[in-house]
Amino acid sequence: MRELAVVHQLAAKDHQVGEPGLYSRIMVIVDGNIPSQGDDESCYLTPVAAPKSGQGYYTLTRADGAERPAEISVDEAKLSQQDSEVTTLLEAYDWMTGRGFSVAAQSVQVILISNIGPCTGCKARLRIFQDDLVAAAKDAGSAVSITVESVYDTPEASLDRTRGSKIPTTYGYPDAVRTPYDISGRQGAYWVYRLPSLQ
Ligand SMILES: [Zn+2]
Repeated sequence: MRELAVVHQLAAKDHQVGEPGLYSRIMVIVDGNIPSQGDDESCYLTPVAAPKSGQGYYTLTRADGAERPAEISVDEAKLSQQDSEVTTLLEAYDWMTGRGFSVAAQSVQVILISNIGPCTGCKARLRIFQDDLVAAAKDAGSAVSITVESVYDTPEASLDRTRGSKIPTTYGYPDAVRTPYDISGRQGAYWVYRLPSLQ
């Protein structure tokens, strides 16, 4: 519950960034240690990535980046390649491989926090990221358990939209679990979706 409280407080702060569109950040909880702003020693909180800031390995459009899965069309990958998650996932991956696996003894919980659930392309990116983390743990000789979750607080668990005038996409996870909170009198609910474990 305390984790959720912290996640929410940070998410609420994120919501005050004030830019339209989907922004995101990732909280990496290591062995139960919950990061605050600026923490990068024993746990990690990425900066907030703004809409259209996406670049790097997880665009799914680069020859030298993560491979685009067959179920994601070229158009969908292109339309979503600048989404904020693209940057956030790489930040979290870099911290995990540069520091996280060497400090984690038992568990790593990666929480993607965003104001809207991830689109179809970014849900694929999150699965690839999870796969990459599991592989990186093996490479690092780490036996920690890895969980990956998506947390957001839209009215509905998922929302179907058409993007770029013709590409249908679904924001959020229809199977996300509504998770109520009551923190210091502030009530609400998040959607929480935990990716199936790969371990
Ligand atoms: Zn996206």
